[in-house]
This record gives sequence, structure tokens and C-alpha cells, in this order.
Amino acid sequence: MAEKKRCYYEVLGLESSCSEEELRKAYRQCALKYHPDRNPNDPAATTKFKEATEAFSILNDRNKRARYDQFGHAGVEAGGFDFSGAGMGDIFSQFQDLFSEFFAGGSPARGRRPGPRRGADLRVQERLTLKEAVLGCKKEVAIRAPATCDPCGGTGAAPGSQRLQCATCRGTGQVSSSRGFVMFTSTCPACHGEGSTLRDPCPKCQGTGHVEKARRVVVSFPAGIDSNQRLRVPGQGLPGPMGGEAGDLYVDVELEPDERFERDGVDLLTRVHVSYAEAALGTTVEIPLLDDSVASLELPPGTQPGDIKVLNGKGAPRVDGRGRGALHVQVQIEVPRTLSPRAKALLAELEEELQPSKRATAG
Ligand SMILES: [Zn+2]
Ligand SMILES: [Zn+2]
Repeated sequence: MAEKKRCYYEVLGLESSCSEEELRKAYRQCALKYHPDRNPNDPAATTKFKEATEAFSILNDRNKRARYDQFGHAGVEAGGFDFSGAGMGDIFSQFQDLFSEFFAGGSPARGRRPGPRRGADLRVQERLTLKEAVLGCKKEVAIRAPATCDPCGGTGAAPGSQRLQCATCRGTGQVSSSRGFVMFTSTCPACHGEGSTLRDPCPKCQGTGHVEKARRVVVSFPAGIDSNQRLRVPGQGLPGPMGGEAGDLYVDVELEPDERFERDGVDLLTRVHVSYAEAALGTTVEIPLLDDSVASLELPPGTQPGDIKVLNGKGAPRVDGRGRGALHVQVQIEVPRTLSPRAKALLAELEEELQPSKRATAG
């Protein structure tokens, strides 16, 4: 620890103004490059991996990053990253969600210990505006759920201590007994099937390995997503007991009603209002679309109230990217509620011109 510590941003090759997204990306690149499993017997790589992980653990925490930005290493030392008690697998497991797409089935650092189990899946509901759903969006989804406990890295063991193999079951989590010719196997009563016990439970989580935390997950909603569809975000569910693989997060999508458009699958329906004269003479109307472009629609002379015109390709995109639905435009005729004396006279004159016989019989 005598040597001078490198700047955390420098370690990850970033500017101090970098976004959280850039931070995650840079760390992921570093960690994948220097991960001990990919660089066996290379202490230099292991050092770089630890350095990057420490930098990321600080910068990825908004409070710690703010303190680091203000005070440098001195600002985060108290809450800094303690490598002494934690094994490499435990360090790695904290940021496991970043790697789930690379290492299906959990990080390779996690071994064949009987303890770790996959965490439960989580479900949340998220409301999107029609615009967000049709164009696609990235949104922070708020989750309040148990998360991996920081000090113990999810092991439940106090920092500096470790889980001990259960003496009763020798780490298998099960005990067997025989009665006559029959062998019975049951869950080990000493460790409740965990295979290990705690001498020093982590004071923060009382040995459970997780604490209740509010967190935000950035979820990418693909263009064209609709109500009652569900997105799966791997590795963002509950942490796995004893450092196991995290479960997945499922996001159920719900759409807010839109003022101008109704949605029916990939098709959209909207209404345009034209005057009686415009409908009779024909006109071109401009329809502002959800992506802020404008579609122009020609209405021929004699357009009737309620007529529906179809603009193909102006609806919502299919989620699989194969084309778009149609925009259905319903024509509505606006009837003026108040008329000037001159307008009244003109309309009466028009009426006589259009329907002289009707006026003659009615008058
Ligand atoms: Zn803990
Ligand atoms: Zn046991």
C-alpha cells in the first residue's frame, strides 16, 4: 500500500465527466480482459483486475463517486473496498449483472460449492407513454428489493471472516441415516442445507447476505413494445443466496392512454377535423406523428364524416423489426357553433343552391 494509488478514472481509461453507462462499459471491458480465469498464472492481470474492480466499486456508487471527485482517495478510504477478507469470487459477484451475458450460468469464479443458489426472479410493472412504446426508449425502473449486502459481498460472513464448512454434513447440506435396509436423506439440521455455517455473521445483514435496497435499473424498451408484453432483464432479480447467481427481472409493460392516438396492435387510429367546406371541396391535412414527423393526407372532394383513410407504414413498428403497421385516420366534420349574420346568410344561400326542392317544401 506504500505505492501511490492511481486515479480511478485513469485506471478505467475514462474522463471524470464520464456517464454511468460509459463507466459500466469501461469496467466490463477491463474486467473481461484481466479476469483471472482468462489470465491464469498472471499476477499482473490479477492486479489490474483488482484495481479496475476497486475503481468501479467506488465510481459506480453515486455517493462514493461524489466524495471521490471532491476529496480523491482520501474521501473514500473509510468506505473503500476491502480485499483482505473477500475472495475473488465474492468481489466478482457484486458486479455480476454486468457479466451475465458473457457467462451464462453465473460467473466462472463461482465454483461448485454446495451453497450458492440462484436468486429469485423479480417482477415490476412499468407504464410507458405511447410515444415511448412506439419509438422505443431507455428508462430507469425503480426497484425496492433485497440486494447483495456490500460489506460481506452476499456471503453473510462478517468482513474478514469466512463461512465454515458445516461439520455435521461436511458441506453437502444433507444428512443420511439408515433404518433397516432403507436410507433416508434429509436436509442437514445444523446448517439448514446451506453446507456451511457462520461463526461471525455480517453485522449489516445479520448473515442473510442481502439488505433491502432501492435501486434503479436502466431498461431498454424496444420500439413497438405493447401493453401486456413482458421484458426480461437477466441478472437483475434477487441476489442468489451465498453469492449465487442473481435471478432475472421481469418488466410488465403497460401503456398510458394517449390523447391523439389509439393503438390496436401495430395499427394506430387518429382523427382529423376538417370543415364542411374542406370536406366538400377536398383538401390536404397534415397529421403530426409520434416521431415528430408529419404525414400529409389528401382528402378528395366529397369526403364524408367518419370516412377512414389508411396510411400504410405509419403505424407502430413490429417488435421484431419486420415492418410497421398502418395509421388509420378518421375524418370528422366540424360544424360551427356560432355564426356571424353574414355567415348565416351565406349558408342559407348555399343551402338553397344545393337543395332548392327541400327548401321549397320545408319553407
Ligand atoms: Zn452482509
Ligand atoms: Zn450441514
